[in-house]
Amino acid sequence: MRRRLKLEEALEIKSLRRIISAYLNYPDASEEDVRRYERSFRKLPPAHKALLLHYPIKIQRLRRCISVNSYFIFNMLQAFEPPVDISQDIDVDESLHPGHTQGHATKENNACLCESTSRTEICSPANDRPDRGECCIETCRSSVPVCVDEEVDVEACHQLSTGSQSSCSMHAKETDKHGGNIVVDSNGNVSSLRQEWLDPSFQINVPLVDVDKVRCIIRNIVRDWAAEGQKERDQCYKPILEELDVLFPNRSKESPPACLVPGAGLGRLALEISCLGFISQGNEFSYYMMICSSFILNHTQTAGEWTIYPWIHSNCNSLSDSDQLRPVSIPDIHPASAGITEGFSMCGGDFIEVYSDPSQIGAWDAVVTCFFIDTAHNIVQYIEIISQILRNGGVWINLGPLLYHFAEMYGQEDDMSIELSLEDVKGVALHYGFEFEKESTIETTYTTNPRSMMQNRYFAAFWVMRKKSASPPQVA
Ligand code: SAH
Repeated sequence: MRRRLKLEEALEIKSLRRIISAYLNYPDASEEDVRRYERSFRKLPPAHKALLLHYPIKIQRLRRCISVNSYFIFNMLQAFEPPVDISQDIDVDESLHPGHTQGHATKENNACLCESTSRTEICSPANDRPDRGECCIETCRSSVPVCVDEEVDVEACHQLSTGSQSSCSMHAKETDKHGGNIVVDSNGNVSSLRQEWLDPSFQINVPLVDVDKVRCIIRNIVRDWAAEGQKERDQCYKPILEELDVLFPNRSKESPPACLVPGAGLGRLALEISCLGFISQGNEFSYYMMICSSFILNHTQTAGEWTIYPWIHSNCNSLSDSDQLRPVSIPDIHPASAGITEGFSMCGGDFIEVYSDPSQIGAWDAVVTCFFIDTAHNIVQYIEIISQILRNGGVWINLGPLLYHFAEMYGQEDDMSIELSLEDVKGVALHYGFEFEKESTIETTYTTNPRSMMQNRYFAAFWVMRKKSASPPQVA
């Protein structure tokens, strides 16, 4: 058991190093792209070049945008506190870990979190998808704490590698003048951790697909944390928030209802739910996401603190160069001043592992899934767990398509993907004791550039279901 724990930890370190390297590789990989544009431009005949005198200037501007994005990324990484010491030496003999291909720390071809801007940009096996492709991910087994109130301690639900047990630790954070984190533990002991792992010697070469995941994250930032994402948030998050508001009319400050958001992405929906007067918990298993959401939630000093250029990585479907090179200010709000309800947290880890724990049975008044249920290998299991963790009479609000993330994954025999139609999904939900209260279709985009000539639309299923007071006996 002890050995397995070590291996899991080693795999997690490996996975985290790869993700951090992907972030660190962003400037170089982007520079590669720019060089490619330059090479193509140089190949133009002089008469054609003469028509495009502004083109080299655009390329220089692109370089400046990349360095601004890189500055944001580097600051984000500096603020990150890995849950394990990732600078320690690791030597992983993966053959000793028979379950590792099913394990999450090594899983790579998971959910993608952004709409592709071109078909070839998608980095997964499902690279011919027209829209939200497979991209991002690694999984994490421990949480990145959320501390949106600067005065209040951080609560970290640390999921142990061996199972679904959770424990909570408290600490307050500051940043020292070297950019290292001063960690004050609950006993008042102070330690200063320099981010050694940001040293280039720790950087590993990662495939370009990993850097694409970083670009996905940048687009996700717009969805969750920029004014430009407001339209998408109004389409996706507003209907959910309105339902919660109506369904829990008498919620009190003293004893707020508890709402879980599995697959919370960059955390905006979970934050909005908290601000509405719920004890809100986001659950997320991607370190790409967790590193970024933690930075925005915990380290934002003021709204509009950062500038990023999210749209520079695609030359396609631009109405103008200035559209492509436009800056976006983030975040659009200061999370710590947004008015959260006490108990807001982000819990890192696989939804299935964390919430199938017996302690979770009947623990939630509401579960909200937004663009999440199609991330399952087995959607039936997701629905089963959602039903288990809701109290009798609790509600499940869902919004999203059925773009199964593991569909079309050929050649991996031990992977599974059950791809049900909406009709079947509803049938399964009825079996697990849900009854429909509301159902509609919502037209929306996902991480779309609002000024692009291409806008992929989803006709997302939206529903409110209530768990009946007594569930029927469940078939094994
Ligand atoms: N709800 C967010 C993000 C949707 S994308 C939004 O609407 O913007 C789906 C998210 O689910 C991704 O962030 C992915 O990392 C996460 N995810 C996928 N499988 C998961 C699992 N098993 N446990 C926890 N999170 C998961």
